Amino acid sequence: MCITQTDTVFSHKRSIPTALLSAIACLLSAPVSATDQPGHTSLTDSSSALAPLTGQVLTLSLGMLLALMIFNICIFIRAHKSSYLFFAIYTGATLLYLVSSDFSRFDLPAVTLDNWTRQQPLFFGAIAAAFAIRFMLSLVPVKEESRPIYVVCHALYSILLLIAGSCLLNFQPLDQPLTTLFYGVLAMTFVALSACSLVLVRKAHSNASFFFMGWLVICLGSLVSLLAIKGYTIDVFRWAHYPALVIQAIAFSLALPAYTTALYRTYQQNYALMENSLQRHYRHRRIYNDAVKHYLDNLNGMDEEAIGSRLLATLNSLLPINTCALLHIRNNQISVFGLSGQQKILFEQLVDGRLTLLGNIARSAEEATLQMQYGHHQAASVSIIPVLWESSHTWTVVLLRQYDKTPLDKDQLQLASDIASHTRTLFRASKRYDELRREADLDDLTGMYNRRAFQRDASAMLTRLQQEAKPATLLYMDIDHFKPLNDTHGHAFGDRVLQMFANVCRSNLRNRDLLARMGGEEFVALIPHATTARTQQIAERIRTGLLALKFDELDSEKVTLSIGLSSTEHCGYDLDRLLDSADRALYQAKSDGRNRIRHSEPEPHSLL
Ligand code: GH3
Ligand code: MG
Ligand code: MG
Repeated sequence: MCITQTDTVFSHKRSIPTALLSAIACLLSAPVSATDQPGHTSLTDSSSALAPLTGQVLTLSLGMLLALMIFNICIFIRAHKSSYLFFAIYTGATLLYLVSSDFSRFDLPAVTLDNWTRQQPLFFGAIAAAFAIRFMLSLVPVKEESRPIYVVCHALYSILLLIAGSCLLNFQPLDQPLTTLFYGVLAMTFVALSACSLVLVRKAHSNASFFFMGWLVICLGSLVSLLAIKGYTIDVFRWAHYPALVIQAIAFSLALPAYTTALYRTYQQNYALMENSLQRHYRHRRIYNDAVKHYLDNLNGMDEEAIGSRLLATLNSLLPINTCALLHIRNNQISVFGLSGQQKILFEQLVDGRLTLLGNIARSAEEATLQMQYGHHQAASVSIIPVLWESSHTWTVVLLRQYDKTPLDKDQLQLASDIASHTRTLFRASKRYDELRREADLDDLTGMYNRRAFQRDASAMLTRLQQEAKPATLLYMDIDHFKPLNDTHGHAFGDRVLQMFANVCRSNLRNRDLLARMGGEEFVALIPHATTARTQQIAERIRTGLLALKFDELDSEKVTLSIGLSSTEHCGYDLDRLLDSADRALYQAKSDGRNRIRHSEPEPHSLL
C-alpha cells in the first residue's frame, strides 16, 4: 500500500472518532471536499488535471466502504453470523486506514496526541488485515482442509494483533521496525487469504470465486498503487487501492449472503436427508421388531424344522415374494426344506435345474441376488440369504419373486438378513437345547435313560405300538443283595457293578429297545415287537451275563439278578400297568429265592 504517503500523513493530527467522522463528512460533501479544501497535498499537487474527478472517486470510495460496513453490521444484527461482524470490522478498519493515511484531505479539528496520530495508519492497517484473516477463517473450513494454511493464518493473525497492540503503547523507537514488520506481514496475509479462497474454490462453492477475485483485486490495486508511487506509472494510479478496496468490499458483501444462504440450503438438504433416513430407519426397526416378535411368539418348538418353517412363514408374510425355501447343505448334499404342494411346483419351475448353482452361491455364505430366466421369456429374481454356515453344514434361505425382474430393495434384504440372523441364533440354541435335553435325559453313572425320559419315550412308543397293533414286553430288573455288596466292598465298587451291568444290558438289547435306570440298582427295558418267549431269552441272557462277570473284590461270590417280566399281551398298552405287573413279578422272583425270572402271567412258572 502507499508507503510514502504515510510519511506525509504522519504530520497531521487526528483521532479514531475523527477519522470516522471525516469519512462521513467526506461522503456528505463529496463534490467539495476533494477539491476546495486548503492544504490538500496528495491529489491537487500531483495531478491537477485529474484532481476533481479523482478526488470525487476517492471520496466516493470511502463513502461506499462506510456504507458497506454499516450494511454488514445490520446483517450481523439480524443474522447473528460472526462472518458479517468480522467483515464489518475489516471494512471499518480499512476505511479508517485510508482516512488516517490521507489526512491532508480532511480539514477537521486537530487533536494533540501527536504520536498516536502517527500510529493510526499502522494500527488500523493491522486491525484490517487481522480481521480479514478472521473473516476468512470463519468462512472457510481451513482447519479440516489444510492444516499448514490454518497455522500460518493464525500466526499472521496473532502478529497483526501484536502490531496493533504495540501501536497503542505509543513507543516511538518501535515505529520503524513495526512499520517494516507490518508490510511484510501484510504481503504474507494477501498470500494466505488467497490460499484460503483457493481452498473454497477447491471445495467448489459457487461463490468462492468472488472471494478469490476480491483478494486478487486488492493485490493488483496495491501493486499498481505502489508502482505509481515509485514513479513507474502515471501518478494518479497511486490511488488505485481505493477503488480496489471498494470493488472487493462490494464483491464480498454480495458473495457473503449468497454464500451463507448456500451453506444454509446445504445444511437444510442434509438435515432433510438425515431426517428421511432416520424415519426409514425407525420404520425398518418397527417392522423388524414386529416380525421378530411374531416369529418368536409363534415358534412351535426348538427343533430345526420348527424354527425353519417359522422363518419361512415370517418371510412370506413380510416380503413381496412368491415363495421361499431353506437350502440345507451337508456333505455336498443339497436338500430343500419348507416347500409343499403348489409352492414346491413353483420353486422347481423357477429354479429349473439350477439347484447346484444356488448351492454353490449358498456355500460362499454371501448374500446375493440374481435374475433367472425361465419358461417362455419369463424372469424371476432370486435372493440368497445365508442363515447358518458351519464347517459341517450350512442353512441358506432362498427368496423367489416371479414375473418380476426387480430385485428386493435394500431395506427388504436387510429385513430378511436381520431375521435370518435371529434364525442363526435359534439354530444354535436349538443345538444346545438338544444337547441339554440329552444330558437331562441320561443317568450320569450308567449313561442309560433316567426314569423321567423313560416314561416319556415309553408312553409314546406304546401309543405307537398300540396303533400298529404290535406287541411289546417289559423287563423290571433288580440286582440281588446289592446293599451288602456296597457295604462290604465300598460305594465305588457298587458303582462299577452298576456300570458293568449297564454294559451287559446294552450288549443284549437292540438300539430301538428302551433301556433305563429307574433308581438305585433297579433297571427296566421296554422291548417292542417282541413276544414273551423272545423276551424270556433276552432276560435270561442278561441274567447270565451278569452272573458271568468276574470281580477281583469277590472271591467265589457272584452278583445275581432278579427279573420281572410283563407284556402288552396280558396288561395292555398302559405303561403304569406294565410296570406294576413287572414289579410284582420281580417281587415274586425275589421271594422265590432271587437270581431268577418271573412272568406277570396268572400262573407264572420258573425258568430255572
Ligand atoms: P434285594 O436283593 O432285596 O434287592 O436287596 P438289595 O440290597 O439289593 O436292596 P436294597 O434296596 O435294600 O438296596 C439297594 C442299595 O443300592 C442301597 C444303596 O446303598 C445302593 N445304591 C443305590 N444307588 C446307588 C448308587 O448309585 N451307587 C451305589 N454304589 N449304590 C447305590
Ligand atoms: Mg432294589
Ligand atoms: Mg436289589
